[in-house]
Amino acid sequence: MSGEDTTTDLDAVVVGAGFGGIYMLHKLRNELGLTVRAFDWAGGIGGTWYWNRYPGAKSDTESFVYRYSFDKELLAEWDWATRYLDQPGILAYLEHVVQRYDLARDIQLNTGVESAVFDEARNIWRIGTDAGETFTARYLVTALGLLSRTNLPDIPGRDSFAGDLLHTGAWPQDLDITGKRVGVIGTGSTGTQFICAAAPQVQHLAVFQRSAQYSVPSGNGPVSPADVASAKEDFDRTWEQVRSSVVAFGFAESDVPAMSVSAEERRRVFQENWDIGNGFRFMFGTFCDIATDPEANAAAADFIRSKIAEIVEDPETARALTPTDLYAKRPLCNEGYYESYNRDNVSLVDIKANPITEITPSGVRTADGVEHELDVLVFATGFDAVDGGYTRMDLRGRGGVHINEHWSDGPTSYLGVSTAGFPNMFMILGPNGPFTNLPPSIETQVDWIGGLIEDAERAGAVTIEPTTEAEVAWTRTCQEIADMTLFPKAESWIFGANIPGKTNTVMFYMAGLGAYRQKLSEVAGEGYAGFFRHSRDLAEQP
Ligand code: FAD
Ligand code: NAP
Repeated sequence: MSGEDTTTDLDAVVVGAGFGGIYMLHKLRNELGLTVRAFDWAGGIGGTWYWNRYPGAKSDTESFVYRYSFDKELLAEWDWATRYLDQPGILAYLEHVVQRYDLARDIQLNTGVESAVFDEARNIWRIGTDAGETFTARYLVTALGLLSRTNLPDIPGRDSFAGDLLHTGAWPQDLDITGKRVGVIGTGSTGTQFICAAAPQVQHLAVFQRSAQYSVPSGNGPVSPADVASAKEDFDRTWEQVRSSVVAFGFAESDVPAMSVSAEERRRVFQENWDIGNGFRFMFGTFCDIATDPEANAAAADFIRSKIAEIVEDPETARALTPTDLYAKRPLCNEGYYESYNRDNVSLVDIKANPITEITPSGVRTADGVEHELDVLVFATGFDAVDGGYTRMDLRGRGGVHINEHWSDGPTSYLGVSTAGFPNMFMILGPNGPFTNLPPSIETQVDWIGGLIEDAERAGAVTIEPTTEAEVAWTRTCQEIADMTLFPKAESWIFGANIPGKTNTVMFYMAGLGAYRQKLSEVAGEGYAGFFRHSRDLAEQP
């Protein structure tokens, strides 16, 4: 502490203590030797994996690549027993990482960062917390999470519900749903995971579905110690492949167009991947153009629709569960999703045909007049994704410009890590970063931001920030790449379509991790092209 009691001068402040914030703290403090403090308003570290404790919460990236790769010893010492890690397993892993690198002493929990304002007179950030403290720092790194700000739709009567009403992204540690009458609104990745896990546990589960979903099996199951040992031996090759691939999920993307093979061969490939399991593998490992070519997309969608018809016994339920739109949202995979609807204690309420009219003290009333009586009502309604963590902060850059003003046409960035007018501020998973398995993208960004800060420190730069031109060009690039895909044509959080009133805009770089890493390396090789720095009183274009 220095100066006034409430002011601490740090080299850097990191906001968020999930995968991103944890590694950034390690990078800046342990590797670059800066004084750093990370803040999180959670009561523990872990980010996503602290908050999302709903039954069934797990990753759909396979265990061997849902982790950090920056330290071979860390890779070698952490085992896994199932193909996918569940929430307690991932949280335990992140807690181990925090302990291993002695990070906890510089993580301040139960503390929200409410404001971050750039002081142009002193070229520093002034950070204010919800505990009323203020801190000054030269660098601000925002690791706020892209799926962190929950979306709780304002359905009439919501606050009158007398039972437990909760969002999956803020699941209470002690809630037990065993034997209860449970309702769930939402059938995205979260809702479908919850449905599979809750169905065998509850007395009755009412699923309120707005959009039917394409889901494939995850293929989850035990992994033997021998398989883990051989995966560990292969880590060098694995991570090289991950870093140069498109979606970074640890499998090779297909390079075969779907329509280049016979209908019979297509079905064989789809069936093979259905049997292996994994959503990203089904979308990107079967054929190379499912996400780009409407005909290829329709073939994949048809295959999944045929599976729904085979699996779901009640024809009316099967019809309501069958999507008719493009297969172009984030791909889902589950352990027996469609099979859940064959259980006597699970009912599907198609709220597109029969909308929710109100939430009452005892349940949910639909337009047909039925009141679905519930003890627990679960909102699996997703997140105000990507920029949602930013727009709720009082975040101001040069000239006092608020981030909401800067992003009034939708969130933008240069390279997903920085934005013009916000000097010395770096974002992890900011807008227009890569659309991938996220830990390898997070590591890529942390390593690169670390390199940029190291370079700025060496050069004695006071500030470093991107030019508006560089940001505009990057946004255009992301838009052009996205327009080559079918994703913008499906309504989902990926383009901001899930939040009423939110600007629908490109929010990801969709050319893959390999291309993204190459771009970052070129920019660094050109002396951080697109950034400019101020060294004392001099403005310098590197
Ligand atoms: P987060 O883990 O979201 O951490 C951000 C932290 O910042 C949070 O703890 C939040 O409390 C804190 N924070 C935000 N604003 C403030 C503030 N103003 N002040 C203080 N603290 C703040 N990705 C995959 O690649 N594969 C998967 O299989 C996968 N599964 C997922 C399953 C679920 C249920 C969810 C919700 C997401 C999943 N994701 C998955 C995405 C997942 O979010 C990322 O993989 C990764 O965990 C993100 O790490 P992060 O550190 O960037 O953000
Ligand atoms: P989501 O994909 O946005 O799904 C939200 C669901 O809620 C959708 O079914 C949506 O219906 C519904 N919904 C939203 N507002 C509604 C309203 N007002 N009334 C009725 N229904 C409403 O959110 P998510 O399922 O939490 O997943 C978000 C992302 O988190 C995923 O895409 C993934 O990246 C990550 N995640 C991953 C996993 C995993 O398997 N590893 C698990 C959970 C989350 P519409 O479709 O009609 O909008």
